[in-house]
Amino acid sequence: MRYSIRLLLAAASVITIASASLMAVQSSLPKPDVLSATGGDIKIAPLNHATLQLTWNGHVILIDPTPQANYTGLTAPDIILVTDIHGDHLDPATIAKVKKATTKVVAPSAAAAKLESAIVMANGDTTTVDTVTIEAVPMYNLTRGPAAGQLFHDKGRGNGYVLTIGGKRIYIAGDTEGIPEMRALKNIDVAFIPMNLPYTMTELEAADAVKAFAPKVVYPYHYRGSDPTIFAKAVGTGKTDVRLRDWYAK
Ligand code: ZN
Repeated sequence: MRYSIRLLLAAASVITIASASLMAVQSSLPKPDVLSATGGDIKIAPLNHATLQLTWNGHVILIDPTPQANYTGLTAPDIILVTDIHGDHLDPATIAKVKKATTKVVAPSAAAAKLESAIVMANGDTTTVDTVTIEAVPMYNLTRGPAAGQLFHDKGRGNGYVLTIGGKRIYIAGDTEGIPEMRALKNIDVAFIPMNLPYTMTELEAADAVKAFAPKVVYPYHYRGSDPTIFAKAVGTGKTDVRLRDWYAK
């Protein structure tokens, strides 16, 4: 009897120590937002600029990992999505660092060419990886580029993505202006929309495009040098919940 009580006490102290150290780890992670979905909550963690992590039902999806984000304490991803070739979206060394042996990397062909191995998707392709349905959608500039007659992002090179996870549709726009393909999207639960000049669009252009497809929730991201509160004000308080988060915390 006495022996089993001792055992119990020992077990309890192990659990206490384990949960205390778990809490210590958790407190250093970015605080994720939660979206309820079939099979469990989707956790949304803004990491930096265009880098974010989605977690659902034991699956971890990391988008555009770059060296600027802090990965300490994060679970290695099952899927990495890459949108385009620029350094704020594609960093082969960071991908090599954060992935595990079984991680599937999904990328457009121009980005895949710089990676050891990737599942190549083009605009319009749909595939299912690790129970997540991934649709590659266009992302491109309508007018803006480094010189007359050139665009920062040519149509067809990069991918935005629409993910279906636990019945929810999550749109990661990538570097784009408010293109017709964005405006025509249907049934988007959560959208990540860029706004910065000269590479993507203004806060007001972004708000105009978002109002056209009315996602339930929108996160301004990729907004270095812009003011997401201007975007939030222009979207207003109608059909879309604007979530302002600090994507540039150090
Ligand atoms: Zn970018």
